[in-house]
Amino acid sequence: MSTLQVKCPTCKRPVLWSPEQEFKPFCSERCKLIDLGEWAMEEKVIPGEPLNLTEDEDTFFQ
Ligand SMILES: [Zn+2]
Repeated sequence: MSTLQVKCPTCKRPVLWSPEQEFKPFCSERCKLIDLGEWAMEEKVIPGEPLNLTEDEDTFFQ
């Protein structure tokens, strides 16, 4: 009755939202790691953190 289902953001499979589901909203640790990996890759593209990108920007604007 209190069973809530969500969709795994990675593979879109139904996931039971329960205390036993430690990887929620993901269906598995694998899907969680895949999603985190994609986030990490996207953050690398955002300029500011890596020194190389900042230097390239300074050169570009001069
Ligand atoms: Zn999944």
